[in-house]
Amino acid sequence: MGELLTVADGRNVVLSVVAPCYNERAGIEEFHRRVTAACQQQQANYEIVLVNDGSTDGTREAIFSLAKRDQHVVGIDLARNYGHQIALTAGLEFCRGQRILILDADLQDPPELLGRMMAKMDEGYDVVYGQREEREGESWFKLATASLFYRILTKLSDVPIPANTGDFRLMSRRALDHLNAMPERYRFIRGMVSWIGLRQYALPYKREGRFAGETHYPLRKMVIFAIDAMTSFSVKPLRFASHLGLTFGLLGFALLLYTIFAWVAGRVLPGWTSLASIMLILGSIQLLVLGIFGEYLGRMYMETKRRPLFIVNEIASLAPDEIGQVQRRDAPHKAAAHG
Ligand code: UDP
Ligand code: MG
Repeated sequence: MGELLTVADGRNVVLSVVAPCYNERAGIEEFHRRVTAACQQQQANYEIVLVNDGSTDGTREAIFSLAKRDQHVVGIDLARNYGHQIALTAGLEFCRGQRILILDADLQDPPELLGRMMAKMDEGYDVVYGQREEREGESWFKLATASLFYRILTKLSDVPIPANTGDFRLMSRRALDHLNAMPERYRFIRGMVSWIGLRQYALPYKREGRFAGETHYPLRKMVIFAIDAMTSFSVKPLRFASHLGLTFGLLGFALLLYTIFAWVAGRVLPGWTSLASIMLILGSIQLLVLGIFGEYLGRMYMETKRRPLFIVNEIASLAPDEIGQVQRRDAPHKAAAHG
């Protein structure tokens, strides 16, 4: 390939493309082909950072062989499966570009939009994020739950988190440095980017169906993802307890008045049904509220351990030494030192 600059000097990287990959073997070559085509149109030095998130289908070997063939590819092999958001975090930490494109490895986010995103950024935006107009190949169930999730999240959160967005976005280096400086373990990256602020632009696009393979977000993971997002961006659910307490306190008081009245009037009722239902309702609400407390407490516990967010097993690149010098998670203030 006739490159303009070599990638050996990371300071020359203008554009980084970062994609987390979990069992994406079947589509990774096509992904590489389309991303490469989009990057070459930009006539700038670029790198493609592919993070293998503990795949079991040979994705790692596929990435490493790309990294051997193409000097633009940096393969990062994590020590195990850490999940989508952490894998993405790893890639964002190792990438060196002045502008950073985040996209899924399954080609649901079209790399061909890069040109339009770059043009918007030239106008002075720090973040250009894709906003889905249409979603192909996704069940009505996923669409309905996603829409409900964003409605609740927007109500709870102090910063508006735009609906129908994924992690597909182009970011400036300064925005990314702010993101990389956030040390938290429970990462809801699209929300964290909203939290940063600066100038952000929503670019509408049509989300395609997966090129190959199937989603790694079954219902169970979607629920965990939603709980992570809500607890990361709001403590309002904790207040839920006091509100419920107040409501039921008032109801209880009214009931007490009624009981006294009934007793005075000599109308003592059998009353088992009402007692049983009150007990059941109060009992389940107490458990629910305890559960909410537990969610936050557990997260506080995990955060206080201050473990690194991920462990890298191996880096594959034609210039691995230089990438290895990138700062560690526990020293985020050094983020600006490279690039
Ligand atoms: N992914 C990952 N680790 C995981 C699950 C997913 O790195 O544990 C990657 C996956 O390879 C893809 C992106 O995260 O590039 C989004 O995952 P997926 O396409 O399964 O989610 P969906 O598009 O269905 O929401
Ligand atoms: Mg997908």
